[in-house]
Amino acid sequence: MMMIDLHTHTLFSDGELLPCELIRRAVVAGYAALAVTDHVDQSNIDFVVPRIVSALKKIKEFVPIEVIPGAEITHAPPRLIPDLVKEARALGARIVLVHGETVVEPVMEGTNRAAIEAGADIISHPGLITTEDILFAKDKGVVLEITSRKGHSLANGYVAKEAIKFGVSLTLNTDSHSPGDLITDETARKILLAAGIDENRLESIFENAKVLVEKALRGN
Ligand SMILES: [Zn+2]
Ligand SMILES: [Zn+2]
Repeated sequence: MMMIDLHTHTLFSDGELLPCELIRRAVVAGYAALAVTDHVDQSNIDFVVPRIVSALKKIKEFVPIEVIPGAEITHAPPRLIPDLVKEARALGARIVLVHGETVVEPVMEGTNRAAIEAGADIISHPGLITTEDILFAKDKGVVLEITSRKGHSLANGYVAKEAIKFGVSLTLNTDSHSPGDLITDETARKILLAAGIDENRLESIFENAKVLVEKALRGN
């Protein structure tokens, strides 16, 4: 089992590192795959995504892990989220996250729903996601995130419990902004267990991440 992390930030939004250093640190931390998913909205999507796509394309052959260009649509009005998801994919993002309704930020109500409608790959930190949206996510195959990030992780237990109750896929990401945010697979296991997930389910959660990586590498 090796760490797959599909939610990280670089200097292209509010992260501390250039993509090259983030990737290097992920390699050293024992990762198998990393997606670079900087924050985007209408103002910067056409600036950030193509640069990440082209940088990762050039770096790829020199790193021993899978690196996937992505984007995290963040604090955009829900009605505009579908167009942004489409735009991100058209610009080359292979993993599209929508910054979900975390309990620690005033994310607009309806964001989780819009993310599902838009066919995002993952809703990051979906907070107190409603049962209706959980069922909708299941229907559309949208994956919900368990996060190691401080603050956002307050809802991990709720997200895990509801997702497992209704059979929605979960994945674990770090939402790394700094080098110290990257985690080992051992820490990943602990975070999942601490969210109240049974040990016998952990393998399937890591498996979900692998499926997302394969889908991303195929180009959806
Ligand atoms: Zn951020
Ligand atoms: Zn994020």
